[in-house]
Amino acid sequence: MGNKLLSEPVWRLISDSPSVAEEFGRSTLSIVIAGPEAIGMEMKLWDSRGLAHHCDGRVFLSPSGRAGSRCGCPPLMAERKERARFGQGPQPVTTVLFRLVGEAAQDAAMLRFRSSSWRFAETVEALRADLARVHGPALCELTVESIEFTTRNGRRVAYYKPAVKVRGPWSLDLAA
Ligand SMILES: [Zn+2]
Repeated sequence: MGNKLLSEPVWRLISDSPSVAEEFGRSTLSIVIAGPEAIGMEMKLWDSRGLAHHCDGRVFLSPSGRAGSRCGCPPLMAERKERARFGQGPQPVTTVLFRLVGEAAQDAAMLRFRSSSWRFAETVEALRADLARVHGPALCELTVESIEFTTRNGRRVAYYKPAVKVRGPWSLDLAA
């Protein structure tokens, strides 16, 4: 946590469309998420040879020989974070597949938001539960808050805090 993060953006919006990037400058996007399966969470640890640990926090996702077997990561996010901090455990990569609310009715290309924020990863389970309760495409808000403050001992802390809020079911009426 802290100054190190300033040089490492922890989120990225993957899109070919400049208008999307422009719209995202407003920091809140109205989006449509198809369901809980549109939220992906993987954990990755890289070393000099490449991807050293790739899991979902419980079982390995790759390589194919190990996929599905227990990876040994601790169950609690706080413990995983502690291990990652010392380079001993993987970091989260959370992805959200979505469409912009104005384009959702036109079968527009899916956009992808990707973040390595621990705070965001910690919200994935609750977010999936909220999406499941909607039983279909959900109208949501994607925000990335830029948080900056100075601690009492003068250290400057800055980070991005992505969040997705589920507003309710999405319907064609909302696209008009
Ligand atoms: Zn693992």
